[in-house]
Amino acid sequence: MELKGKVAIITGGAGGIGLSTAKLFLSEGASGIMLVDNNQEALNEAKNVLKSDLVRFMKCDVSLSEEVKAYMEKTISEFGRIDVLFLNAGIEGVVKPIVDYPEAVFDQVIGVNVKGVWLGMKHAFPHLKANGGGSVMITSSVAGLRGTAQVSAYVASKHATIGLMRVGALEGAPDQIRVNSIHPSPVDNRMMRSLEEGFAPGAGELVKENFTKMIPLGRYGTNEDMANLALFLASDKSRFITGASYVIDGGFTA
Ligand code: NAD
Repeated sequence: MELKGKVAIITGGAGGIGLSTAKLFLSEGASGIMLVDNNQEALNEAKNVLKSDLVRFMKCDVSLSEEVKAYMEKTISEFGRIDVLFLNAGIEGVVKPIVDYPEAVFDQVIGVNVKGVWLGMKHAFPHLKANGGGSVMITSSVAGLRGTAQVSAYVASKHATIGLMRVGALEGAPDQIRVNSIHPSPVDNRMMRSLEEGFAPGAGELVKENFTKMIPLGRYGTNEDMANLALFLASDKSRFITGASYVIDGGFTA
């Protein structure tokens, strides 16, 4: 029961990593979870999967300040506090070289993956401070640590979150707010199916095979693998850890 009595917000909460994390947090004793996502259909499915009175669901776009403020306030009004903020919502954009990459998609990816994280910390810090501290986790990627051709917006956004994480860790430390980032290699879920198809339309399986060959442990990560790391960073077991980037990649970047 690593999260006994703790209240957590999970953005992108109806997606692969977010939903697995919600399940794990519940099984570890979380006393309240606010699941935030901009996909209503996915939120409805998540409700059916989780079937718990301890979870609230909110349709929000994390790139819009008013909506971020609203999900923080709703969490406070429902549960009275925020202990854990998992800034996990993200989009992959498209797979195209920079010269062909649509400007509107670039702005959208930066809006969700970077501004969404910045807004999350901006609106959560006062609540976390009022609690005497808390843990913020940001889902970056191995794409935040190295380049990959044809996904410029995604790679730029995931590098940017490391900067935000470091600044958040420094600004939050006096108030016992910890901020860390998580860097998965390919995870076996919807986002990778979309990227595989983008890299080789009609031959996504081949892309998966090639990526898998580059992972020393010989497989993609699972949503549950990511949830386990999020649990550690959310819990008091990581109480002296802040400002750190956690690679979770089966040896991919080694
Ligand atoms: P996913 O697509 O299943 O989940 C992402 C969720 O974010 C979706 O439910 C989506 O509806 C939601 N979302 C998108 N835009 C939003 C917005 N503006 N406001 C609120 N919610 C929004 O994929 P996932 O793998 O679970 O992604 C979670 C995080 O993990 C993302 O930040 C992603 O970049 C990162 N990541 C994923 C992989 C991978 O291989 N899947 C690898 C490294 C990092």
